Amino acid sequence: MTGESGRDLRFRLRGLGLSDRAISAAWPHWWSEDAEASASARAELRFGIARRLGLDPHSLLDDRDEPRFLWREEARFKHLSGESERERAGITSFGRAIASILVSATSPPEGDLAGVAARDLRENVLASGGQFVTLVDLLSLSWALAVPVVHLRVFPWPQKRMAAMTVRVGGRSTVLLGKDSAYPATIAFYLAHELGHIALEHVAADRQIVDLEGETPAANGGDEEERDADAFALELLTGAPEPTVLATGPGWAHGRALAHAALESAQELRIEPGTLALAYGHSTGDWQTANAALGNIYAAARPVWTQVNAIARQQLELGDQPVDAVDFLDAVLGEAGE
Ligand SMILES: [Zn+2]
Repeated sequence: MTGESGRDLRFRLRGLGLSDRAISAAWPHWWSEDAEASASARAELRFGIARRLGLDPHSLLDDRDEPRFLWREEARFKHLSGESERERAGITSFGRAIASILVSATSPPEGDLAGVAARDLRENVLASGGQFVTLVDLLSLSWALAVPVVHLRVFPWPQKRMAAMTVRVGGRSTVLLGKDSAYPATIAFYLAHELGHIALEHVAADRQIVDLEGETPAANGGDEEERDADAFALELLTGAPEPTVLATGPGWAHGRALAHAALESAQELRIEPGTLALAYGHSTGDWQTANAALGNIYAAARPVWTQVNAIARQQLELGDQPVDAVDFLDAVLGEAGE
């Protein structure tokens, strides 16, 4: 058993390259200098941190050991660009640790998303009175199917390039978002894409897909799963797997004009205006105009993650969870006023 102090343990975790935010989020509130004197408290500290960061507890109990992540082979990565094996293991393990808490804090599903067509999901949302499919609709749909969705405010590494991941724990699916945006339509696309991975059964039990950020929201080259998940997302959001939204007159290729046109045609086309602007970007490759339009479509730009996590906090049943897990999740979900 280790005689290592809490401070030295932090040092060892930092040596791995873990972010201070991740280490602090996993650190239990009950830890104090007095606790150093107790061998059982020191062991509990290490077991708890290992569980929350996805590390092998044995590698924390032996102070001469380098901390080792438990999972790496479980995840398939999309859009890799030079992430090391250790970075991949860290993202995989951290995601799996959080997904396990989310699954245990959500009632088992009554329905199942696997095998459901994008068209049917879309009709379901529109039949319940929506004019078009919005981010909030997708969040309601996910939680109704017992698929927890959260936006991570803490990452294992100081640099993050993760757009979103789908993690399956046993037979249950969870979606962890990472992409920051001030516009709901951008996040709606990423969430719809992850729902596509689940519905198209790309992720086996106890496996996960990590979507790192590509050049544009949809630049998938030869990856068939990515193309299919994109087509699923677009069909769910717009009614067509490959919608074509083009400039039809002078002035369209300006953000403000595109915003105006999107707001005007949203109701008739039954496509959320921001999604319409993004579909224009998708069709033309003119992302500059599409992004400028988003700034004109929404009354105020505010971080979308606050809305995603406010809904998560309402939905999660944390009453029976260990207090350290709840504190950890609280830190990972961030403060609304952050
Ligand atoms: Zn993907």
